[in-house]
Amino acid sequence: MQLVNLKDDNQKVSFTEAVKTGLGRNQGVFFPTDLKPLDDIDALLELPFVERSTQILSHLIGDELPKDTLADMVKRAFNFPVELVKVDEKNYCLELFHGPTLAFKDFGGRFMAECIGLFNQGERVTILTATSGDTGAAVAHAFYNKPNVDVVILYPEGKISLAQQKLFTTLGGNIHCYAVTGSFDDCQALVKQAFLDDEVKAKLGLNSANSINISRLLAQVCYYFEALAQLPKEERALVHVSVPSGNFGNVCAAMIGSVIGLPVDKLSATTNQNDTVPRYIASGEWSPNATVESLSNAMDVSKPNNWPRVQSMLDSGKFDKHDFYSRCVSEQRTQEVMREIAANDYIAEPHTAIAYEGLTQDKDAKSTGIFLATAHPAKFKESVEQVLAKQIDMPEVLQNALDKACLAQPMTADYEQLKSAIFAKLF
Ligand SMILES: *Cc1c(COP(=O)(O)O)cnc(C)c1O
Repeated sequence: MQLVNLKDDNQKVSFTEAVKTGLGRNQGVFFPTDLKPLDDIDALLELPFVERSTQILSHLIGDELPKDTLADMVKRAFNFPVELVKVDEKNYCLELFHGPTLAFKDFGGRFMAECIGLFNQGERVTILTATSGDTGAAVAHAFYNKPNVDVVILYPEGKISLAQQKLFTTLGGNIHCYAVTGSFDDCQALVKQAFLDDEVKAKLGLNSANSINISRLLAQVCYYFEALAQLPKEERALVHVSVPSGNFGNVCAAMIGSVIGLPVDKLSATTNQNDTVPRYIASGEWSPNATVESLSNAMDVSKPNNWPRVQSMLDSGKFDKHDFYSRCVSEQRTQEVMREIAANDYIAEPHTAIAYEGLTQDKDAKSTGIFLATAHPAKFKESVEQVLAKQIDMPEVLQNALDKACLAQPMTADYEQLKSAIFAKLF
């Protein structure tokens, strides 16, 4: 597989290099130079999830990874189910929260851990990442107790849910957490600074685990095929998928899927009030506002890192602009929709409700709708219970994490403090 830096087309890299470096020169993201269609989609959809996912990833990545190695990696990474649940007459929910940290980030995080484990054999690696809520837990669990790997996670103190936080700050071992006084953007800025610091980079063997990493993105392509495989055949003619979007990685994976032959006709990338992309689609102007806090905190992103990848597929016509929708859903509407879905006996947390609203607004009557449940409702227990005025069940993994003590250390948003803390911890 060859990838090109979307900000500098002189920089072309292999899949291995793209995974190891994350971001290219000038902060450019890597994108495959050639996305070839898969053959015989119908036969592919007949296969079991893990086997089909191996075929898809092998098609995308090519001979850089031997197929039997890849098969083992996929089997270990995707060791939990994906479920498509009918919610009403024309809409299905794709539940992506049955992994160890109850959010879709487990797919990308676990496959990325497999790739780094393979590529960095013997070398020391430090994964440094900022989290807006769910990446931290997925990455922490994926790398927990892996030899030669340390994970450093920065999160904005008080701005993520207790369940989100406890899922990674209670692990200990090779997982080191810092509660930063500031916003997600402040955490992200500290991470960026570390990547510009050659001393730190070399000594620690730094790698980031954010959704920029191509291995995470490619892994996510696989569950869209699983959604179609579980959809009754007579409902596959016209399919409209709605993805709750923050950094636009998930919807980018859906679009890559479509480019290689996934039978999805229309895509909605639905956001909360952090609406840089919807405003851009409407006006042609890219003008991010300051990030605002919302109920769907994992989408509180105003400068989506993955947008250049989506844009490249729209610009080249690989995905038809007219079939791409992006709108924003207000806080008030998010809560109303949560109650509307609950009236159909389905509990949706805020991100999922936003995806559902995207279908309600964008989908035509003929199409079958699929909206993504990106997190388990219990991960947002406080807000779900408040909005629905009822108690919800707590899965055991979450209850166990909640019962443990938080091991994170407080930190101000100061790079020198971060640097000395990391060096003190790791050397
Ligand atoms: C990360 C996340 C999103 C946003 O996904 P992107 O790929 O960043 O667009 C949506 N919902 C949940 C629950 C998340 O954790």
